[in-house]
Amino acid sequence: MPAGVVAICGGIGGAKLALGLYRVLAPRALSVIVNCGDDFEHLGLRICPDLDTTLYTLAGLANTERGWGRRDETWAFMDALGSLGGPTWFRLGDKDVALHVERTRRLATGEPLSAIIAEFAARLGVNAAIAPMSDDPIRTRVGTPEGELDFQDYFVRLRCAPRITAVTFDGAAAAQPSPGAIAALGGARAIVICPSNPYLSIDPILAVPGMRALLRARGAPVIAVSPIVGGDAVKGPTAKIMRELGVPSTPAAIARHYAGLLDGFVLDARDQASARDFDCPVHVTDTLMKRLGDRERLAREVLTFASSLAQARY
Ligand code: GDP
Repeated sequence: MPAGVVAICGGIGGAKLALGLYRVLAPRALSVIVNCGDDFEHLGLRICPDLDTTLYTLAGLANTERGWGRRDETWAFMDALGSLGGPTWFRLGDKDVALHVERTRRLATGEPLSAIIAEFAARLGVNAAIAPMSDDPIRTRVGTPEGELDFQDYFVRLRCAPRITAVTFDGAAAAQPSPGAIAALGGARAIVICPSNPYLSIDPILAVPGMRALLRARGAPVIAVSPIVGGDAVKGPTAKIMRELGVPSTPAAIARHYAGLLDGFVLDARDQASARDFDCPVHVTDTLMKRLGDRERLAREVLTFASSLAQARY
């Protein structure tokens, strides 16, 4: 699979596979379209958690133990903020703050988010295109029995404890795909929906008007990798949300969630017994990405699967 691979991704789970793809593909062959429904304004700054996780991961700067932020961080800013009585529930390391300050400054001059991220990626030595799903503001909100919550209130402050009754994407109806997303999908030879949370990370991307049509436009095979392994999420609330929404927390339910989009599904070997529950071709393998080698192996297998699906069409 030489060029034109597009990864659709959220934060931690998605960025793991995006890194695998990045490392096994030729320079510039990968484009990553990233969720920005969890972006928010905090301390006067625009924070883009999934975009930044992807950027730091591909740049080799991510803190892989924590799963967010940069490695080799210092915390002088947070400590000083706390001593002044400021809000410290959303942790921001010193180097990370520099990125938020610079992004916010440039956004205030009218520059689009996608241009800023593209330049950050180039400056940090990333040889892949990283594009927000849209330059327009889209904000994920979760419905709970106690009322609606902003995404980061739910995700970080309340640690995903409230029961979710609905997920909405404010602003999505008026948004457009970013120029980077349009360009990436226009040249796509294979599209990989990474093992991200379908409800909180992938749905906001698919909610941008025109995005689903762009995904299907070139006839490139679309493959999803299961974020459910052994009947549960590896990390985070994916399985919990599925149960709360009355959906079985199974890989087949994830595939049904992406109905109309998928040409293939990558199923974890621990869930092999469910392989017959799918309407599309399935590739069964170990999808747990603990080490770098796991990410590269899974990326190679996903690309080989995509090639086989593309060839089967002709
Ligand atoms: P977030 O925005 O930081 O929550 O990250 P994502 O939405 O990108 O990823 C969350 C999903 O990644 C969860 O459903 C996890 O089960 C899944 N995930 C995390 N690590 C792995 C892994 O190694 N393999 C697979 N298959 N899924 C993973």
